[in-house]
Amino acid sequence: MGRLGKKKVFLTAAGQGIGRAAAVAMAAEGAQVIATDVNEETLSTLPTENSEIETFALDALDGDAIIAASERVGAVDILFNCTGFVDHGSVLECSDEAWDISFNLNAKAQFRIIRAFLPAMIKNGGGSVINMSSVASSVMGVPQRFVYGASKAAVVGMTKSIAKDFVGDNVRCNCICPGTVQTPSLDERIDAFDDPVQARKDFIARQPMGRVGSTDELSALIIYLASDESGFTTGQEFVIDGAMSL
Ligand code: NAD
Repeated sequence: MGRLGKKKVFLTAAGQGIGRAAAVAMAAEGAQVIATDVNEETLSTLPTENSEIETFALDALDGDAIIAASERVGAVDILFNCTGFVDHGSVLECSDEAWDISFNLNAKAQFRIIRAFLPAMIKNGGGSVINMSSVASSVMGVPQRFVYGASKAAVVGMTKSIAKDFVGDNVRCNCICPGTVQTPSLDERIDAFDDPVQARKDFIARQPMGRVGSTDELSALIIYLASDESGFTTGQEFVIDGAMSL
């Protein structure tokens, strides 16, 4: 049966990285998983045959598509908002456009998805909302992560607000604040440096544990927050960062 029984899950950004690993791990725990991403190519590589994973393309920036997705999917027990984009730079390099790009994907997309999916979740008796934030947020300042940190701090604020407003509806809402995690986008960020070998060493050095995190470690936390095992916790930011913020 698994730790997620027959719970129904909807998640975004499931084509690669943390979202993909979480989709596979939640299906292995018995959940019925509806996995979405804007990238149909990566999404199509998810193991849908002989597993409880169904996929369809969703651009989390498209408000109408979000509403259509919520109508198509109906009530879910678990909503995992995983979208996010890392912008590099301080406040002095942040254009108005860069601000909007990060806030639209990192915060507004999550807000719109929760607004669309929450009524059916409440009607269905409640559920667990999990939002992807970062240690670069209200948890800590990270060099050259100005708009990323600002928009991920908005996720922490949204999480607490939603948890407070809907605690009486049996809806829990928590967020995850990872340090550096091995994903395709981390590799891309490293390869963009003039000296990728040194850049990887620098990323690793940010975690006093001397390594980056794995998507398996993230999946374990996501399953805990999705399952009834975390039934007494809501409105919290779960830091999983190899001691980066310690
Ligand atoms: P990633 O960057 O490797 O992949 C992101 C996925 O999001 C891709 O599949 C991409 O197609 C999808 N995506 C992009 N724009 C989208 C849109 N408009 N609509 C729907 N999907 C879209 O993923 P990752 O590194 O695993 O990061 C996932 C989340 O975790 C992000 O929110 C990120 O900010 C957060 N996070 C990651 C790290 C890390 O070190 N990897 C650390 C802290 C937080």
